[in-house]
Amino acid sequence: MSGDRFGDGAASAVTTAERRLAPETLAARGMPTPDPETGAVVPPIHLASTFARDADYELRQPFSYARDGGPTSRTAEWLIRDLERAERTLLFSSGLSAMAAVLEALPMGARIAIPDRMYHGGRSWARRLEAIGRIRIDVYRSGDAESLDSAVHPGQTSLVWIETPSNPECRITDIRCGAKAAKAADTLLLVDSTAAPPPTTTALDLGANIAFHSGTKYLNGHSDVTAGVLSFRNARGFDDEVAGIRTHQGTVLPGFESWLLLRGLRTLFVRFGKMSASAQAIGEALSDHPRVEVVHYPGLPGHPGHTIAAGQMTGGFGGMLSFQVRGGARMARAVALGCRLFVPATSLGGTESLIEHRKSIEGADSPVPDTLLRLSVGLEDARDLIADIDQALAKAI
Ligand SMILES: *Cc1c(COP(=O)(O)O)cnc(C)c1O
Repeated sequence: MSGDRFGDGAASAVTTAERRLAPETLAARGMPTPDPETGAVVPPIHLASTFARDADYELRQPFSYARDGGPTSRTAEWLIRDLERAERTLLFSSGLSAMAAVLEALPMGARIAIPDRMYHGGRSWARRLEAIGRIRIDVYRSGDAESLDSAVHPGQTSLVWIETPSNPECRITDIRCGAKAAKAADTLLLVDSTAAPPPTTTALDLGANIAFHSGTKYLNGHSDVTAGVLSFRNARGFDDEVAGIRTHQGTVLPGFESWLLLRGLRTLFVRFGKMSASAQAIGEALSDHPRVEVVHYPGLPGHPGHTIAAGQMTGGFGGMLSFQVRGGARMARAVALGCRLFVPATSLGGTESLIEHRKSIEGADSPVPDTLLRLSVGLEDARDLIADIDQALAKAI
């Protein structure tokens, strides 16, 4: 099944790439524009849960029942597939439901390599599956290529999992090195690229087989949808397994949410560019602040992963950064609550800036330092945002 995005037979991602349409162009249009039936320049929202058969009892399109997805989720899937230069993209009702489907698709007793710094929801689900004997886990040090290598066991490991930049400490893992290790062991590589969306990284081009995004974050970008994205290339049928699980669990992204996601994607590139520029300015300002111990942002030359990040984040270092305050957990929480513009809330990638004390969210067994605050930089004026943190740092005790 392929997308005829421009009404002239531009059927596949490869064809699109050959025509050298920039991903930015694809995102800005967001659909086959205009709609051939109505001339509408934005896509319709299809909410039907079931689809009629014709006189031969055949389906007119490959839709029969909404648990498999419908026309609006397919339009969004095709757009992201083209942005990722993937063979296939599947949308889910949240990032975590997409992660759960990946873990569910693994064979019984499968061995997976995961980083010691990983989105806590995915980590705790993987740990639960390990506890009941469903999978085996090898942990490597996030951002350490040698450690990753030694966690991959040829003939045994089924999946290598990378998250880069890692949330919330912005550790950078070299995707090309991970791909080499995965390939040598004849295993699949998944990259959680939530913090590095297509304007800056296309993990499949760097050798990954599965690019994961929490679409809740940058892709939708307006804090009004939860969505998960899996894009596949050379996945050897793993995509079919995952799609089957999605159908049985009914975790496809519904029509209205798919439409909102398409709407968000139209401005993805401009949002990501501005957020990256503002985060860089905030990171630099915080680096000089006497009440700040360390800033974690891959755009800073002093960041241990800066060189690797520069080689795989070619369109900006993103709007997520974190920093550790001097003075302990109480001080960190006081800074979060002392902000007037930054909202103390979880999540990232929305137009409004957020601040979060991650340790409070992740709990006692989390490896995140308790002096760490994560920022999600939105679209406000960067000077306003810097002044806001300044006043919160000044008054916190
Ligand atoms: C938010 C997030 C997820 C989980 O996605 P949801 O849409 O919240 O279910 C996974 N990985 C990373 C890096 C995230 O930031």
